[in-house]
Amino acid sequence: MSTGLRYKSKLATPEDKQDIDKQYVGFATLPNQVHRKSVKKGFDFTLMVAGESGLGKSTLVHSLFLTDLYKDRKLLSAEERISQTVEILKHTVDIEEKGVKLKLTIVDTPGFGDAVNNTECWKPITDYVDQQFEQYFRDESGLNRKNIQDNRVHCCLYFISPFGHGLRPVDVGFMKALHEKVNIVPLIAKADCLVPSEIRKLKERIREEIDKFGIHVYQFPECDSDEDEDFKQQDRELKESAPFAVIGSNTVVEAKGQRVRGRLYPWGIVEVENQAHCDFVKLRNMLIRTHMHDLKDVTCDVHYENYRAHCIQQMTSKLTQDSRMESPIPILPLPTPDAETEKLIRMKDEEVCGAAGAGGRDAPSGTAHPPRCLRPQLRRMQEMLQRMKQQMQDQ
Ligand code: GDP
Repeated sequence: MSTGLRYKSKLATPEDKQDIDKQYVGFATLPNQVHRKSVKKGFDFTLMVAGESGLGKSTLVHSLFLTDLYKDRKLLSAEERISQTVEILKHTVDIEEKGVKLKLTIVDTPGFGDAVNNTECWKPITDYVDQQFEQYFRDESGLNRKNIQDNRVHCCLYFISPFGHGLRPVDVGFMKALHEKVNIVPLIAKADCLVPSEIRKLKERIREEIDKFGIHVYQFPECDSDEDEDFKQQDRELKESAPFAVIGSNTVVEAKGQRVRGRLYPWGIVEVENQAHCDFVKLRNMLIRTHMHDLKDVTCDVHYENYRAHCIQQMTSKLTQDSRMESPIPILPLPTPDAETEKLIRMKDEEVCGAAGAGGRDAPSGTAHPPRCLRPQLRRMQEMLQRMKQQMQDQ
C-alpha cells in the first residue's frame, strides 16, 4: 500500500488524518490487542527447584522473587532425613509489577538426594511432572477447555554442589530421568565457596559431563540476526556462562555506602547482584525478562507434545489390540479379484458342484471332510484368510 508514504509526505491536519486513517485496514494494531488481552488475563509460570537440601534453594528463590515462600518450612534432623522420602511441595504467589500480574508457582522437592540410598529418588519428581501433563491432557480433551489451569512445570532449576568435582551419580540420574520432560537449567550452588578459576574449571567439567552422558538441558534459542549488537553480546555471554554459578542471600548489607543484597564475611562482602561476583543477574534476567516465554513454549511444543504423542500412540495401540481381541480378523479392504479370475473361479465351482450333483458323493456324516460341493468355497475362504493374515503381518 502506498498510503504509508503519503502519510509521511506532508504534515497532516486532523481532517487529513481522518482521511488517511480510513485508508488503513488497521491490522497493525493486532499486537496491541494481544498485549491488552494477555495483560488482562495475566501470566502464569511454574518453576521447580531440585537439589540436595542445604544447597541454598529456598534462599535463591527468595532472592529471585523477593518473596519468602518458605516461612513455615520445618527442617528435618539428620536422623529423620536418613529415611525421608522425596516430597513435592507447591507454593503459589500472585505478583504484580506495573499492572502485569504473574501467578508464580514454585514446586519444591525436599528430601531429594538426602537419603543414604538415593536410587531412583527422582521417581516422585518424574511422576509429578507426568501427572501435570496428564491433567492438562485430560482437561484439553474435556468439555470445558476455556479455563484450563496450566500446572505443567515450565522450568527446573537443578542445584549442583560446589564441593564436588563435577556431577555426582544422583545429578546424572536426575537429569537423565527428567530432561525429556522439563527444561532443566543446571546451577552451581553457593558459588561464593569457590574462587573464579575454580568456578571456570567446574563449569567446564559440568559441560563436558552433560555432553558425555547425553543430557539435554534447556538450550537458549538462537538470537535473531536483526537484533542489535548489544543484545547479541548479552546473548553470547548468557550462553557462555551456563551452568550459572549463583549466590543467594536473604539479607541486605551495606557495601561502599550502598545497601545491597549480599553475604557479609569477615574478609568482605559478596554481592548477589554483582556480575563480577556471580551469575545471579544473568539467571534472573534469563528466567524473568528474556526467556520466560520461550521456556513456556518449549514446555508446550516439545515436552508436552512428546507426552501427548506417546499417550495417543498408547491409546491407539490399545484400541487396536482390543478390537483384535473382539474380532480376530480385522475388517480390511481386501484386494478384489479381477473379472477374469472371478469368472474362472465361478466356472470351477459350478463344475465341481455339478459333478457332485451328478453322482459324486459327499463325505459321510461324522467324518472331518466337508461336502465335496463346498470344497471350492472353502478353498477360497482359506485363500482369503491367508491374504488377511499376510496383511496383518505386513501392518
Ligand atoms: P535449601 O535447603 O536448599 O533450601 O537451602 P537454604 O536456602 O535453606 O540454605 C541453607 C544454608 O545455606 C543457609 O544457612 C543459607 O543461609 C546458606 N546459603 C544459602 N545460599 C547460600 C550461598 O549462596 N552461599 C553460601 N555460602 N551460603 C548460602
